[in-house]
Amino acid sequence: MKVLIIGSGGREHALAWKVAQSPRVTQVLVAPGNAGTRLEPKTRNVDVAADDIAGLLAFAQRERVDLTIVGPEAPLVLGVCDAFAAAGLRCFGPSRLAARLEGSKAFTKDFLQRHSIPTAAYATFTRATFDAAWVRAQRAPLVVKADGLAAGKGVVICATQDEAVATAEAMFAGRFGKAGDTVVVEAFLEGEEASFIAMVDGTHVLPLATSQDHKRLRDGDDGPNTGGMGAYSPAPVVTPQIHDRIMREVMLPTVAALAREGTPYVGFLYAGVMVASDGTPNVLEFNCRFGDPETQPILSRMRSDLTALCDAALDARLAGVEVDWDPRAAVGVVLAAAGYPDDVRKGDEIHGLDAAAGMPGKVFHAGTALSADGEVVTAGGRVLCAVGLGSSVQLARQQAYALADAICWDGMQYRQDIGYRAVARECAG
Ligand code: AMP
Repeated sequence: MKVLIIGSGGREHALAWKVAQSPRVTQVLVAPGNAGTRLEPKTRNVDVAADDIAGLLAFAQRERVDLTIVGPEAPLVLGVCDAFAAAGLRCFGPSRLAARLEGSKAFTKDFLQRHSIPTAAYATFTRATFDAAWVRAQRAPLVVKADGLAAGKGVVICATQDEAVATAEAMFAGRFGKAGDTVVVEAFLEGEEASFIAMVDGTHVLPLATSQDHKRLRDGDDGPNTGGMGAYSPAPVVTPQIHDRIMREVMLPTVAALAREGTPYVGFLYAGVMVASDGTPNVLEFNCRFGDPETQPILSRMRSDLTALCDAALDARLAGVEVDWDPRAAVGVVLAAAGYPDDVRKGDEIHGLDAAAGMPGKVFHAGTALSADGEVVTAGGRVLCAVGLGSSVQLARQQAYALADAICWDGMQYRQDIGYRAVARECAG
């Protein structure tokens, strides 16, 4: 079978690498891919942008693609799966309406409240309805969120009420473009974060291995929020009890309510959850796709055939399906470019990739490109993700950092402490 992967980041490299391992798959096409995807066996990059829905559809029809897996949220929110389905093509991901769970934070907060799914108390405003006095009457810290897609940057944690008012006003003034026309102001939640990612077939929820990512730029979870500086799987914070609560209180009611409301959900569903000290799984956000960088460590542990799982989901056959996991832990360390997460420098030549290719573990590419003279150069903020496997998080981490240390370019930055919470738990336990 021919499989099309839409996207160009580290998640899409991991999806392409995984799909190419399936004996059912003859060819993997990645639109547009990166300098790493083009080197995978059976795999070819295709020069169509991830948000060019008409171009993707025309390409998939011309190439007679059997299965498409959508990596990023933007094409999902634009309705790529609706367009493919209307043309009779199999495309794994939610419809445009179901993808509103990620595309609109105001929609999602109302949805959660309507269905009594745990989440922070909140209010939603436009410029016309903004009530600064209400914001000033709330307890700080407060979290201010642009409603629409803002490349993971539209969430600001505000230490004071005044800062929250100023942040909301900056969003109304266009700081995140149209994404900030509507703003959610919500209570700050204490706890430990976990990513809970599942495959959904409209009715059934098949949880994938648990994971935890590190959103802040610097060691010790300090510095600005980023798209994610590293992730590991499994995440010990998700104990069997917490897993059960997230399934019962978040995933199953969400999927059932979407189906009842006439927008059944098919695809990867990612809940970002803040686990409170009493175990309550408060929803911080939903993503309508696999996580990046969680995909890289999670798929490094998946032994089952991902294309068979996608097929089962598209045919509403996920009930009773089980995923076979490598019991080892996986740790992924993101190597980022100078300036990330703000103004990123691009075009720096990356050294050490050949040496790393001969070492245990796997380096997934994200923001990489080939220069005119054939060198692999940086082309984005998050450039690579080095994944190690090991019988403990500590050993997996050693393997990942050995890979990271083998690679360098001018201005490369990465955190030294990915997985520290899990390592602390291992040492304590
Ligand atoms: P989101 O995109 O909504 O997940 O927000 C990005 C990050 O901001 C989350 O991963 C959390 O670390 C943090 N965050 C968002 N909402 C809250 C909240 N209500 N309380 C505490 N932290 C939050």
